[in-house]
Amino acid sequence: MSIIMSGKEVSANTRAKISDEVKAFKEERGITPGLAVIIVGNNEASKVYVRNKHKACEDVGMYSKVIEMPEETAEEELLSLIDSLNKDDEIHGILVQLPLPKHIDEQKVINSISPKKDVDAFHPENVGKIMIGEYDFLPCTPAGVMEILDYYNIEISGKKCVIVGRSNIVGKPQALLLLEKNGTVTICHSRTKDLKEETKRADILVVAIGKPDFITADMVKEGAVVVDVGINRMPDGKLHGDVNFDEVAPKSYAITPVPGGVGPMTITMLLKNTLTAAKKYILTKG
Ligand code: NDP
Repeated sequence: MSIIMSGKEVSANTRAKISDEVKAFKEERGITPGLAVIIVGNNEASKVYVRNKHKACEDVGMYSKVIEMPEETAEEELLSLIDSLNKDDEIHGILVQLPLPKHIDEQKVINSISPKKDVDAFHPENVGKIMIGEYDFLPCTPAGVMEILDYYNIEISGKKCVIVGRSNIVGKPQALLLLEKNGTVTICHSRTKDLKEETKRADILVVAIGKPDFITADMVKEGAVVVDVGINRMPDGKLHGDVNFDEVAPKSYAITPVPGGVGPMTITMLLKNTLTAAKKYILTKG
């Protein structure tokens, strides 16, 4: 019987700790950690994510400001809003919900967020810091994966870690975090020649490709730890991961489900980063 690694459980534990820390921080410093979330346009999935982030902030006692902008918002207008939030003492974290409408340059927007308030850790300065292992923030999804592995006492050192997917927000930073914990890391992508050959070698397999049920039992080694980052909405409205859970679970030592796996951890890590940003603010303000 494999271990079902419940991100929901890890998340509830971590959020309870964050909530206590926020309370203590408010009492000691008189400051409420604040997060601004900007959403541009009408992407329904993005709206749900933003609502969830707002609620999660309030649940742990943080201040949350959601700024909704219309689809036709000019890039300059968004940049000017970010500039004012960069200077706003009540806001310690700024998150721009992606994707942005096509006429807005995403990287330019990310670059305009103060690295001190960049709670997504997408700014090049923060990305560089992760590369050298001296970071303040970690990108939320890969950081959430690491918390799950830690909670379930999964040994990473010396293990063969295979990541499928090389996006800037999941695959690449995930590789660095596993490497930092002394994993032997392979990154696979759409041009990988024999994917099954690679995934079958994994002691720890992390999948983030956005293809429902893509990883089947024959692609996984007996006793592997499998982390499924994928979130795919099926025609019947159900959520499926990138891993065929029913097939792979019996073969694995431990596996994350979808939903209830990595998903809940992403917002939890956002809360953690916002608290960290507020604490850093104290250090810079004295
Ligand atoms: P991207 O679309 O940015 O990247 C997908 C990656 O998968 C690319 O590197 C691509 O390779 C690779 N890929 C696609 N098809 C294949 C294939 N057949 N074989 C091998 N590699 C393949 O996705 P994201 O990283 O943003 O997201 C991945 C998944 O994770 C999605 O389902 C998304 O919804 C989910 N997600 C979940 C989060 C959570 O909170 N749990 C947060 C973020 C994402 P190439 O680079 O060569 O094109």
